[in-house]
Amino acid sequence: MTGPGTTLPRPPRRILVVGNGIAGQTACDGLRAGGFDGDLTIVGDEARAAYSRPALSKALLVDGGSHELAPPTHEATEVLGVAAVGLDAVARRVRFDDGSDLTYDGLVIATGSRARRLGGDHSAELTLRTLDDALVLRERLAARPSVAVVGAGPLGMEIASAALSAGCQVTVVADGRPMLPHLGPCLSDAFTAAAVAQGLKLVDGTATGIDGTHAVVLSDGARVEADLLVTAIGDIPSTEWLASSGLLTGGRLEADTRGRIGPGIVAAGDVAAVPTQAGVRRIPLWSSAIEQAKVAARALLEGDEAPELDLDPYFWTEQFGLTLKAAGHLPASGDPEFLLGDSPHGPSVMRWIADDGHGVAVAVNHRIPIPRLRRMASAGA
Ligand SMILES: Cc1cc2nc3c(=O)[nH]c(=O)nc-3n(C[C@H](O)[C@H](O)[C@H](O)COP(=O)(O)OP(=O)(O)OC[C@H]3O[C@@H](n4cnc5c(N)ncnc54)[C@H](O)[C@@H]3O)c2cc1C
Repeated sequence: MTGPGTTLPRPPRRILVVGNGIAGQTACDGLRAGGFDGDLTIVGDEARAAYSRPALSKALLVDGGSHELAPPTHEATEVLGVAAVGLDAVARRVRFDDGSDLTYDGLVIATGSRARRLGGDHSAELTLRTLDDALVLRERLAARPSVAVVGAGPLGMEIASAALSAGCQVTVVADGRPMLPHLGPCLSDAFTAAAVAQGLKLVDGTATGIDGTHAVVLSDGARVEADLLVTAIGDIPSTEWLASSGLLTGGRLEADTRGRIGPGIVAAGDVAAVPTQAGVRRIPLWSSAIEQAKVAARALLEGDEAPELDLDPYFWTEQFGLTLKAAGHLPASGDPEFLLGDSPHGPSVMRWIADDGHGVAVAVNHRIPIPRLRRMASAGA
């Protein structure tokens, strides 16, 4: 994206970051690192400091472990508990739900996403997206209810694992093999085997709704009953406040390779769709949000001189006694090449090279440093 007004007026004075998650916080750090010393304000609708979302299902839910991030050093003015409700991109003004508004020279859109729900506003349906969600879920699990989890992606399986370790009877409703689209068959099989060995019950089916307070209804009419119903069926980008901004394309916030959306506006993290080899798509992952935010901050300051997004994918999960770290492009298909160890149940490091030359190196229950894992992924390609 080029043209007049795409980057900041020189010298820039006011940059507004909307969304106080890891993308918003990283953008603030990146702006300061890039030399921006003007007014920097970050606004978030959660009335608390930014925290680690991945830690909610891997630490807080499991054993009350920490979800805290290091305190910020960017010295932005933090406005918390306030939601953006509208954007006038011509007047460069954001409106908030407390009736206030803020103008800006540069805007970072980092409003992330929220949990997709199965049953609309059904009060019996719990989801896990925020710290508040995690605290509620942790308290409910302490009473050892029977639990039905809808969704067998990494998040659903992490919730199921935490519930099992809390002493609950747990059923996962899986529309296909757990984590198959995310990890590929070899790793999906290894993780499913570990889950089943620990007592997880799997029900193959498509959930269509919630009935009453204790049942998930499947497409064939069957019901899965449990005391506690939790869904983990994906996320929806938080773009409602941009509805009349003129920035959405078919309802999506599409950024260019530098995170740019329009004049003086960039976006990063789960809210944004970015160009990838598989087309323009969201990559709702922690490391992706960080990389996008770094690039977007540079683009706001440097325009076409800023580097383009060059994602170096990294993913991890912890569940059912297994820890997986993956550098490179998942899912992995076919048989792995074992670089260390000899079993996908670990401890091991495996590598797959796809036909297009992309590699992925995966460590299971192995404390290999991430930079070394990255080198292994690229060395084979
Ligand atoms: C339980 C859980 C576990 C996860 N585990 C992993 C993992 O293991 N690995 C991995 O790679 N990824 C994981 N993820 C995904 C990862 O956490 C996200 O990709 C990442 O947090 C995205 O960061 P973000 O800043 O773009 O969005 P968010 O973290 O969603 O932050 C956006 C912030 O903006 C706020 N906001 C929304 N709308 C408005 C508005 N209108 N006005 C003001 N503020 C607003 C939101 O409330 C939120 O605080 C996990 C996610 C969850 C929920």
